[in-house]
Amino acid sequence: MTAYLFDIPVPAVPVIGESALYPVRRVFCVGRNYAGHAREMGSDPTREAPFYFTKPADALVPGGGAIPYPPGTANLHHEVELVVALSGPVFQATAEEAAGAVFGHAVGLDLTRRDLQNQAKDKGRPWCLGKAFEFSAPISPIRRCPTPIQSGEIVLEVNGEVRQRGDISDMIWAIPDVIAHLSRFYHLGLGDLIYTGTPEGVGPILAGDRLVGRIAGVGDLSVTITG
Ligand code: MN
Repeated sequence: MTAYLFDIPVPAVPVIGESALYPVRRVFCVGRNYAGHAREMGSDPTREAPFYFTKPADALVPGGGAIPYPPGTANLHHEVELVVALSGPVFQATAEEAAGAVFGHAVGLDLTRRDLQNQAKDKGRPWCLGKAFEFSAPISPIRRCPTPIQSGEIVLEVNGEVRQRGDISDMIWAIPDVIAHLSRFYHLGLGDLIYTGTPEGVGPILAGDRLVGRIAGVGDLSVTITG
């Protein structure tokens, strides 16, 4: 048996109705996948293939709850997203093959230090400081489902007020398309999560705010930002 110098917890997400957890290896995120959000960020939604960034698996906050306002930003933004957990394996797949690589779905928040992301964009630098920080990926328990969902309302409320509302059917790249495209570049499979992009309406959140994300047929996720 391999010995380690010290123990590090394995990031993992609960699965509804099961006692065993889904261990997470990688967290991929789609940059823009709803036309309305692409437009609000100043892009043309019709021309771009999907693009990606990643978050460390230990950025996950399984089940949500209280998380601290992150350091180094004055403009923390919410992005509610459908998360797909993969079964796989899947590599250089067609969309049809990719559709068979789904383990289940969850509700996620892609929390973003927008000021740092925008500075990085302006300078052509990586997005890590803006996107890949501690507590930046709250996620609901995974609802097991072997077929990708194609529709369902996705909503985010802040302090009881709706800030983002869309439908999974509004995604520019549907789940099988995203998995197939990403599988051109990675051997995907068990332990991989994909945050599939956010609908329009992103905006700032402050310490004390309570966020509730919901996706019909998937679940809900509550997060409170502490000071
Ligand atoms: Mn996002």
